[in-house]
Amino acid sequence: MLNLILFGPPGAGKGTQSEKIIAKYNLIHLSTGDLLRSEIQAGTELGLKAKTLMDQGILVPDEVVIGMIDNKLKEHRDAAGFIFDGFPRTVKQAEALDNLLASYNEGISVMVALSVDDDELLARLLNRGKTSGRPDDQNEELIAKRIQEYNSKTKPVADYYQKQGKFVAINGIGEIDFIFGEISNAIEAA
Ligand code: ADP
Repeated sequence: MLNLILFGPPGAGKGTQSEKIIAKYNLIHLSTGDLLRSEIQAGTELGLKAKTLMDQGILVPDEVVIGMIDNKLKEHRDAAGFIFDGFPRTVKQAEALDNLLASYNEGISVMVALSVDDDELLARLLNRGKTSGRPDDQNEELIAKRIQEYNSKTKPVADYYQKQGKFVAINGIGEIDFIFGEISNAIEAA
């Protein structure tokens, strides 16, 4: 199996690159942000609780997203592999993911991290907010809060995979196809 984590701050281009990776490598896309937004749309209890936090730019509790990923892994036993997008976002989530995959005798193949500076992130997210309809993309303070959550809680996840020798950093600024080429190289070297 090819199990890839696409890592990076909000606005780094994970969604755009995910689509291209899925098409080329036939992976199942697991985006916790998308899964949470589906719960909100469906008006579930989980969705209602998550919305309050997401609307403030705060991470939802680890148990919630770990449970969602656990369900999806069970649903796709015959997959060629997975691309994890927006997950794991804390070291606790990373440990849980390693344990879940180990229970299937699987593991993470590689973490590909897209790096983009904070000014560019802010500009991209405000721009996305004009068309995405996402409430968390429409307010500068909220975007700053998300980047702050990323820097404090999520960045340590990179060190976690670096220690396992699975971390590859890629410049997330430039032509979409060029960046995709770099990601493909990292996947094929894994
Ligand atoms: P972005 O990366 O652009 O911020 P996402 O769609 O990945 O967007 O996430 C939107 C929001 O959903 C986050 O700000 C957070 O509140 C919540 N969320 C998504 N994934 C996770 C996760 N793995 N752990 C905790 N909260 C999450």
